[in-house]
Amino acid sequence: MPGERELVLVGAGLAGCLLAILLCRRGWKVTVYERRGDPRVKGYESGRSINLALAERGRHALEQAGVLEAVMRQAVMMRGRMVHGRDGPTRLHRYGRDDSEVIWSVHRADLNPTLLEAAERAGAPVHFHRRLHTVDFDAGYARLIDDRDDQPHDIRFRTLVGTDGAGSALRAAMVRKAGLVERTEFLDHSYKELTIPPAADGGFRMEPHALHIWPRGRYMCIALPNDERTFTVTVFLPNQAAPGSGDPCFASVRSGAEVRALFDRDFPDALPLIPDLERDWEHHPPGLLGTLYLDRWHLDGRAVLVGDAAHAMVPFHGQGMNCAFEDCLAMVEAMERHGSLEAAFAAYEVERKPNAAAIQAMALENYIEMRDRVDDAGFQLQRELELALQQRHPQRFVPHYTMVTFMRVPYAVALWRSQVQRQILTEATRGRASLDGIDWEALARAVRERLPPLEGAR
Ligand SMILES: Cc1cc2nc3c(=O)[nH]c(=O)nc-3n(C[C@H](O)[C@H](O)[C@H](O)COP(=O)(O)OP(=O)(O)OC[C@H]3O[C@@H](n4cnc5c(N)ncnc54)[C@H](O)[C@@H]3O)c2cc1C
Repeated sequence: MPGERELVLVGAGLAGCLLAILLCRRGWKVTVYERRGDPRVKGYESGRSINLALAERGRHALEQAGVLEAVMRQAVMMRGRMVHGRDGPTRLHRYGRDDSEVIWSVHRADLNPTLLEAAERAGAPVHFHRRLHTVDFDAGYARLIDDRDDQPHDIRFRTLVGTDGAGSALRAAMVRKAGLVERTEFLDHSYKELTIPPAADGGFRMEPHALHIWPRGRYMCIALPNDERTFTVTVFLPNQAAPGSGDPCFASVRSGAEVRALFDRDFPDALPLIPDLERDWEHHPPGLLGTLYLDRWHLDGRAVLVGDAAHAMVPFHGQGMNCAFEDCLAMVEAMERHGSLEAAFAAYEVERKPNAAAIQAMALENYIEMRDRVDDAGFQLQRELELALQQRHPQRFVPHYTMVTFMRVPYAVALWRSQVQRQILTEATRGRASLDGIDWEALARAVRERLPPLEGAR
């Protein structure tokens, strides 16, 4: 039987590798099993979401694991949203006050190998081509399959940690064993990824230090920079158009000619930048987007879920990975505080579950903001007021995006405060075209009464 300080991690993705490093540094013996091949040997077998926005929560966790510097070498700074309207020039809407409040674009194909390397260096062996298939929790046996030859490989375990992503096989085994209740709500929108290659001189073909966004009401397109001077473009469309809307949708935009017509009409400045538009569109199936709700995350001290395996979310706040990294830290800290794994997993679940639910909800809300609101005048006025109130009351009025992205305020607190702030902003800007003549005294009273000081605000 494995020893008391031995854990088996299933999945060497982002959370799996980071957790392995954090555990090894605290003296745990960790073995990792990964379904795919080693990306360092074969080249990256890409999943979806090629590049990811890394924010403060993720950076903090990476720093605690001693890998931040290595990751940041491959990151591209994004200062804000570069909004491409239908007509007229592009405009940068900053995320924060200055360059101390930015997010970072990292390529999954750089990040995952960097973390894998660090996990192995920290002492965690990673076994590739080992897909978790079945688990006997009572006997402490798990069966893994090598998908190259379908051969089974059985292992013994005391505790399994599921870092195997949204389609977690460990979660499925826990559902079967202990009746966990799970539900995935799929969005009626999906996405496809395309690439903007470097310019002829090897440089970027658009402003690199921004997240580009083409908001078009019920659909949108975004592009994030990669350090090899490319952009990953993601197109989000409804699966089916609302009756009578005339909106493009995946059911109606299928062929190369149809996607060209869509870009020509809605994203004309992006069209000349994507040479393989037609081919990529026809060859990449749309990716599904969903939110996973799960009632329990652990099975006494024998199994626990981390990251997407516990709480997959839609990507519109760019927080899935950041949240997964925060989970890893919360998990190892709970393990240090508690004498048994069962108690540690229970404490981890109590701490993280409401926060995961909060960021899942905020991620869903943010889709509407990104595709529909960033470009409208009412939203701009609220943003202007938000910044003014932050300047006047920096300890109390902290913009929603700042709390989620540049701070480590628990997500549930960020959600609650954001709701109060939105009410204040909506009430104060109703029927106004500008902030002229606004009642700053009344606003100051509302802020003082409704928003207690926030620790860490500056
Ligand atoms: C379009 C899109 C854009 C996104 N953008 C962002 C962003 O900007 N910022 C952000 O923070 N997050 C973003 N995310 C979310 C982010 O990708 C995930 O939250 C993150 O990858 C979760 O990490 P994880 O380790 O839990 O799962 P994963 O990264 O999915 O890793 C799971 C690992 O487990 C392995 N595995 C799966 N099944 C098995 C099995 N049965 N046995 C063994 N191994 C298995 C997989 O091969 C994989 O290596 C985005 C997601 C999408 C879809």
